[in-house]
Amino acid sequence: MIAAHGGKLTDRVLTGKALEKATKQAKSLPTVTVDYDTARDVQNLARGVFSPLQGFVGKADFDSICQRNCLVNGVAWTIPILLDVPCADAMETGKDYALVQEGQSEAGAILHLSEVYAWDKAQAATAVFGTSDEAHPGVKGYLSRGDFLLAGEIDLLNNDRGPYASHNLFPAETRKAFEERGWETVCAFQTRNVPHAGHEDLQKTVLGFYDGLFIQPIIGKKKPGDFRDEVILRAYETILDHYFAKDRVFLNILPTEMRYAGPKEAIMHAIMRKNYGATHIIIGRDHAGVGNYYGEEEAIEMFDKPEFADLGIKAVSIRGDFWYCKTCGRVASNRTCPHGEADQIPFSGTKIRKGIIDGIAPDPRIMRPEVFDVIRSFEDPFVS
Ligand SMILES: [Zn+2]
Repeated sequence: MIAAHGGKLTDRVLTGKALEKATKQAKSLPTVTVDYDTARDVQNLARGVFSPLQGFVGKADFDSICQRNCLVNGVAWTIPILLDVPCADAMETGKDYALVQEGQSEAGAILHLSEVYAWDKAQAATAVFGTSDEAHPGVKGYLSRGDFLLAGEIDLLNNDRGPYASHNLFPAETRKAFEERGWETVCAFQTRNVPHAGHEDLQKTVLGFYDGLFIQPIIGKKKPGDFRDEVILRAYETILDHYFAKDRVFLNILPTEMRYAGPKEAIMHAIMRKNYGATHIIIGRDHAGVGNYYGEEEAIEMFDKPEFADLGIKAVSIRGDFWYCKTCGRVASNRTCPHGEADQIPFSGTKIRKGIIDGIAPDPRIMRPEVFDVIRSFEDPFVS
């Protein structure tokens, strides 16, 4: 089994007597309100998804991540996990604070505040997203955050698995599941979409090389027009049920926001999947990109940088433009197929989407009819 990132899987989930005591204590603590995404980050920190982090990073680690792509101790890290506040006047280091998700009354975690520091949001945005363009959703997000960052270890009180509990195993649990299946190599597949025939072809190709396939949709904040979380999960359940060998595939969500940081996010996607027990991760064209901010193979090339030589998890680089070729009689690409455009049926997201809205099934060589049917069974499959 691959070691957790940095050596040891973080576990800051309180249970039993410690949980009882901390829950009682939290009621009398000053509170810090966190948004939905930060509340997910807190859970991910505690459950080991962000191992070796034990909480929100201090200034030294923050600077090191932005400037050198690693923590102060040299462990690779590309996107800081942040807890921002608009004003820190009343905050005192050395004290405990209850973290409460907006709209909720109970504390989800306790923060042991170790440091409060101001940050240059524009500079950090440029370091993480590689652009200062405010039209980039990540840059825009950073600029709208509070002026101060809080650092410190956290202890989780609310370990609720959320609405897709049976598909939300934590890193220690997926590791155990992989071990029980005897998987020594596990290839992760990152997605935020419903599966089409191009995805299926790729997933089945890697199953020729690795023991297991770990399909892990990112579940969380979405843009209008994106597929709803439940739709993605049901579509995958359906395709796995009909067309995959059950003992070779594991479907499990990753509740975290998409940050659209392209190459740097590709590294974070790999680190998180390593913590879940994956040894490999598929990195494709413009992985975690948005608009035209990153080169098509920039995320793939990122894994070749010297600072990621010891990453542990390996990228499976997928190069090329894919389509279904009628003459090849299979999924093909500009690297495999000698035939012309007339033979190509493209995997067009826009076309598939239009078909779903109009109730016109795509060519079965592009999308499995069962997948189309399950998507269509939702009144509104898209985020509005
Ligand atoms: Zn062809």
